[in-house]
Amino acid sequence: MGRRGRRQAGVAGVVLGAGILVVVGLTTPWQALPGAPEVAADPAADFTAGQIARAQAFDTATGVPGYLSLGLTLVFAGLLVATPLGARILGVLRGPWWVRVLLGVLVLTVVEEALRWPLGVWFETVLRDYGLSTQDWASWTGDRLKSIAINTALLGVMVVAVVALARRFRRWWIPAAAGAFALTVAASFVYPVVFEPVFNDFRSMSEGPLRTNLLAMAERDGVPVEDVLVADASRRTTALNAYVSGFGATRRIVVYDNLLKAPQPEVELVVAHELGHAGENDVLYGTLVGALGAALGAILLFLVFGPVRRRAGVTSIADWRAAGAILGLMTLATFLSGPAQNFVSRHIEARADAHALNLTRDPVTFAAMQKRLATANISDLSPDAVEYVLYASHPTAPERIAMARSWAKLNGVPGP
Ligand SMILES: [Zn+2]
Repeated sequence: MGRRGRRQAGVAGVVLGAGILVVVGLTTPWQALPGAPEVAADPAADFTAGQIARAQAFDTATGVPGYLSLGLTLVFAGLLVATPLGARILGVLRGPWWVRVLLGVLVLTVVEEALRWPLGVWFETVLRDYGLSTQDWASWTGDRLKSIAINTALLGVMVVAVVALARRFRRWWIPAAAGAFALTVAASFVYPVVFEPVFNDFRSMSEGPLRTNLLAMAERDGVPVEDVLVADASRRTTALNAYVSGFGATRRIVVYDNLLKAPQPEVELVVAHELGHAGENDVLYGTLVGALGAALGAILLFLVFGPVRRRAGVTSIADWRAAGAILGLMTLATFLSGPAQNFVSRHIEARADAHALNLTRDPVTFAAMQKRLATANISDLSPDAVEYVLYASHPTAPERIAMARSWAKLNGVPGP
């Protein structure tokens, strides 16, 4: 591809990147409680010294296998991008080019997962030591194999599509960007009905005062909810959680079965937070921004592949042996975009918290709920800067409780 072709892609990339920044800049709720008095987050205000120490010990214990696994993933991706390792491994495969690409993705994923396996076992052992995991090794292995299968299938489709487009079109980045956008939207839409049931069973919350109250609250909130689903999370974890997934016809509010043991007002507060996500269409919005990011990723892949191909030992991206370098670049891009996603996510989560407080007007129960979740999930109460940037998709529990205090002051009601 000539210089003119690269310049066109470069301009498209800059325009799309700037567009994403403007959209995110204008739509992110930078202030969840405008005009509210600042309240500093303080773990010691709500958690005992024992709870804080336990969270720190758990953080240290999981941090070692966690960081080693991340490091291994990045080193493996770096080798696929900067050395001919991928091309060599794929070079031995036989069959039509697309079969070689699919097999190549499978082989590389299996190699990487095999290298990471002992670290996964280590991590799971820590979870069991702390009573957070309820799985046996058979079910743990089954889960892991299922996620590898799903990841490999999705990655395989993406890489085959990129190579196919590159073999067919000189300016393959245009259909690749459109395809990346469409695939992201489609995957997010079908996620609750195709992928989630692979791991969990879901049932409608049984009739009773809790269900009646939750649906009444949704109605009061102006968010149409026909059902609340309960996931059988207890066969995997003792953690407490709830979430919204899908959009349009596949949107659902899901609570972990573990959560139903909590006092009813606290469950209502969790669901009030999820109603905040549903009411603001956070899943659809996140999907659309993510899809734009995926389209930008396709353009960047086109732009960086020129310099990368020689190091990766392939002639062009249309070379089926390029699959390894493509996978490596996708992994690096996912890692690099994580902090930005977390940064925006924390603000969206704070808005859902503000929504829960406005809807229930109950900051005391809100704080009790946050305390219960953080204690049960052994959440990091004071993550260091690196952990916060890399992993924190939500504000910390002390930050969320501080927000409840701030809300209480703003609204002149007794705070936690
Ligand atoms: Zn949330």
